[in-house]
Amino acid sequence: MQVTRSTFNDVMVPNYNPAQMVPVRGEGSRVWDQEGVEYIDFAGGIAVNVLGHCHPELVNALQEQGSKLWHLSNVFTNEPAIRLAKKLCDATFADKVYFCNSGAEANEAALKLARRYAIDHHGAEKDQIIAFTQGFHGRTFFTVTVGGQPAYSDGFGPKPGGIDHCEYNNLEMLEEMMSERTCAIMMEPMQGEGGIISPDPAFVKGVRELCDKHNALLIFDEVQTGLGRMGHLYAYMGVNVTPDILTTAKSLGGGFPIGAMLTTDAIASSLKPGTHGSTYGGNPLACAVAERVLDIVNTPEILADVLKKEALYRDILQKINAKYDVFSEVRGKGMLLGCALNEKYAGRARDFMTAAAEQKLMCLVAGMNVIRFAPSLVIPDEDIIEGLARFEKAIASVVAA
Ligand SMILES: *Cc1c(COP(=O)(O)O)cnc(C)c1O
Repeated sequence: MQVTRSTFNDVMVPNYNPAQMVPVRGEGSRVWDQEGVEYIDFAGGIAVNVLGHCHPELVNALQEQGSKLWHLSNVFTNEPAIRLAKKLCDATFADKVYFCNSGAEANEAALKLARRYAIDHHGAEKDQIIAFTQGFHGRTFFTVTVGGQPAYSDGFGPKPGGIDHCEYNNLEMLEEMMSERTCAIMMEPMQGEGGIISPDPAFVKGVRELCDKHNALLIFDEVQTGLGRMGHLYAYMGVNVTPDILTTAKSLGGGFPIGAMLTTDAIASSLKPGTHGSTYGGNPLACAVAERVLDIVNTPEILADVLKKEALYRDILQKINAKYDVFSEVRGKGMLLGCALNEKYAGRARDFMTAAAEQKLMCLVAGMNVIRFAPSLVIPDEDIIEGLARFEKAIASVVAA
């Protein structure tokens, strides 16, 4: 059956408006569309394809597990899930892991756990969840309400309650909002969708101290920052603040859907049998692929390379900006970078993304003012150089228009 981009409009719910070309194949950081046109991929499936497209070792892990055992549900456990959980615990602060299928589900589990833990240990009045404006935590009704963009949660009827929002990087405001009623703080250790916004180191430390003071749990949403993207296996390791609960997804599966929530023994004990679950959570295919992703990414060589590649990006972007003067700054860390547009081009991030696609470069935006790159951690230097040459042409075309 022949399908095209216009078939999409005929048969898909109109909540997305994808690019006009339809990709059919990928290898490393290159992608080909239905017409055989080749693209360079700086989007990485929105910070998912951490080892590029069709990494031979991931293909291998999928094929190997695919001829053994696909699915069992949570009525039976399986070896890949147990191995992956063990490796995640060994590599992080965590003692226990809960598997699910996406970032939103991992956050949903984290929020439910925080509420249940508070009820178990402090009583039902301790129900306040504080998150941050411009934060993003997924699209289930609980997580999207915790997220800091009301536009995403408005228009669906009554929202889950007990949720308040504070300005990111505003410790004073947070201090005023918190009390013994505060159950948990949920934050991204760098805001991704919100515009690639880094926290001040003192802010992160202060949040931890306030959580300790008020017996509130600190939840780090590392769905976008995790799995080496910022040069550490998880971003919390770079800011030297340990959360009580951490959520991870996106890069964890390298393109195969999986999410996980990590926590300590003491907190995990509140998720007693029957309190929460997922049919596909801990699926053997997903866990076999994620185990291989973790094995490959969590090495000093790959993690150090992420920072070298960041330096290459920054070096070339600076030269481009010296020529065209379009960015106010290049921000972010590792393979999660944002080019913030200056006054003159304010609100036009999408125009640059569209112009990039015309030059055969896939990239992302983060809000209206930031062009975002979230490429593979192992993108070859040649692809960075060639991709940024295409990006420069895209910029030239927007500037000239
Ligand atoms: C993408 C993202 C999510 C949602 O993940 P899904 O897999 O789309 O549900 C949650 N939190 C952050 C920080 C994200 O970037």
